[in-house]
Amino acid sequence: MTSGITLVTPRHDEKKGLVLVADQHIRRGAVIIEEQAEILDRASMHSVQYTPSKHAHTFEGGILKLAEHMCEPNCGIAIVPVAADSSNAERVLVKLVALRNISGGESVGFNYNTSDWCFSHPFQCECGANSCTGLIGGFSKLTSKQQQSLFELFDAPYIAEGVLGNLDSQENVMQE
Ligand SMILES: [Zn+2]
Repeated sequence: MTSGITLVTPRHDEKKGLVLVADQHIRRGAVIIEEQAEILDRASMHSVQYTPSKHAHTFEGGILKLAEHMCEPNCGIAIVPVAADSSNAERVLVKLVALRNISGGESVGFNYNTSDWCFSHPFQCECGANSCTGLIGGFSKLTSKQQQSLFELFDAPYIAEGVLGNLDSQENVMQE
């Protein structure tokens, strides 16, 4: 099984391509998507960073990868370890959790800067939010003020671990 609880449906948006849209009113704190992921030592387009050297890769067929970037997001990412399977491979659950009440028809997303220290493929954000940080390159590319505001807003495990201050030496590892 690769995916659980789903309160959203993929829809085609003319500007953004495939996005995830809430099927119904979603309450703050609800787990919207839950997908199993394997842990690898490298990042990919859709992986979520777990620790300085571990990246969670959700399995094929999941829809979590369709959650878009939002500088003022309505969701956050949580990563929860699960017991190792018979192959002893390290597994986690990656959850998309509502940070506020979300209306039916709203698209859902999270701030990608909360899920990776440094992107190998930064992109320009055009979300139009007051807090838009422009080029999205990972947590390390934010100013300390921007980082602090994300600390306050999120319970992203990778950030919450407090390891970010020690990561400069990791940057080369993140870049493919
Ligand atoms: Zn933005």
